[in-house]
Amino acid sequence: MTTMTAAAREGAIDHATKYYEEGRFQSDLGALVAFETESQNPEQKAELMRYLREAMEPRLVAMGFACEIFANPDPRGGPLLVGERIEDPALTTVLTYGHGDVIRAQTDQWREGLHPFRLVEEGERLYGRGTADNKGQHLINIAALEAVLAERGRLGFNVRIVIEMSEETGSAGLPEFFAAQKDRLQADVLIASDGPRLQPDTPTMFMGSRGGVGFDLIVDLREGAHHSGNWGGLLADPAMILAHALASICDRRGQIKVPEWRPDSLTPAVRAALDGLPIEGEDGPAIDHDWGEESLTPAERVFGWNSFAVLAMTSGVPEAPVNAISASARATCQLRYVVGTDPEDILPALRRHLDREGFGMVKIVPMDRGFFKATRLDPDHPWVKFTAASLARTAGKPPHILPNLAGSLPNDSFSEILGLPTVWVPHSYRGCSQHAPNEHVLKPVCRDALRAMAGLFWDIGETGGPGA
Ligand SMILES: [Zn+2]
Repeated sequence: MTTMTAAAREGAIDHATKYYEEGRFQSDLGALVAFETESQNPEQKAELMRYLREAMEPRLVAMGFACEIFANPDPRGGPLLVGERIEDPALTTVLTYGHGDVIRAQTDQWREGLHPFRLVEEGERLYGRGTADNKGQHLINIAALEAVLAERGRLGFNVRIVIEMSEETGSAGLPEFFAAQKDRLQADVLIASDGPRLQPDTPTMFMGSRGGVGFDLIVDLREGAHHSGNWGGLLADPAMILAHALASICDRRGQIKVPEWRPDSLTPAVRAALDGLPIEGEDGPAIDHDWGEESLTPAERVFGWNSFAVLAMTSGVPEAPVNAISASARATCQLRYVVGTDPEDILPALRRHLDREGFGMVKIVPMDRGFFKATRLDPDHPWVKFTAASLARTAGKPPHILPNLAGSLPNDSFSEILGLPTVWVPHSYRGCSQHAPNEHVLKPVCRDALRAMAGLFWDIGETGGPGA
């Protein structure tokens, strides 16, 4: 690289740094947080459209995007914005994505002095609902594109952008919309941001996510409860049957015993990618090293394996127990799974397993709410290597690379429906209280992320990406 192009790369990164240091990032984020875009709250439906029309569209149009806002094909979902900035159809096209909706505000649970829809600065933190998930993250990416435009006058590549407003309710309609708009969303790669960095001071990349399946296990034996003195010893206890059924699914350290739930995808390449990744930090509870698949490292357990959880469980009335054998027991369960597990066979496999173990009386009732499917991209994919090299150059150290996020994202719509390689560069950190009161971002991470993304977008414009 010549000195001149290296200086221009620095120029683009400087624009992004100034955007942060002059306070514009903070005031722009404050403006986005003020939109009360709770997609789980039907009373805020109008806010979803207002976010797209008033916060996103004008800014993107000023950057030379042609934008269109679509009604969601699924009546449960909010509107979707699609924008495109095509410099030359022969150039590389990047698709980027963000979600402008946020989870429930939980206003009365925020700490004194904070409010979900007001950006509050405290030390290194910026508090507000959506700062981390996901307003701050797509703002950073949009501002990084602006920084490249400011330096070069053009991007050097084409961009398409999708902003959806229903991610927190499971991205209703997104798969159908993508299937219908496949041509319009055509691109070479998805580069987007959501979720946390593994450690705040080091960029992270992930290329997919774990999927999830939710279901109830119900043991419903008879009409009503019966006196535990007169009937105890004569009537089977549903809570105990349910406990034994659960114990047949996982052993006492949480190792999965359903054969089909044990993935076959923890390859040497994936193990190598996960080797040495820091899992423990100050920003969360201490890890239980004696929990989970014994032969695996903690990183392999959370990023490379499946995990079963009992989210809630009940029999009788725990708040007011009576002397009776209860009639039924219920556990709400979840399997988080990685690629290498057949999503269509998760519940049938559980049925076969429970029957084999003598628990034919345990009913499996799938949850209504859909979940995202597991996805993953090979850590050796050219776009992974290209992005990693660019992030390393800006940060001065290599990024942490995860084959997939432990949590879930609508990544299957990008990877399966649009057929794109997917590279996610998260801009938050694990202690951000995403999906809880006191959600916040760290200011140094935002500054760092603006610089990293400006460098990445600069490099794509300079070289056309790995395929060019
Ligand atoms: Zn979220």
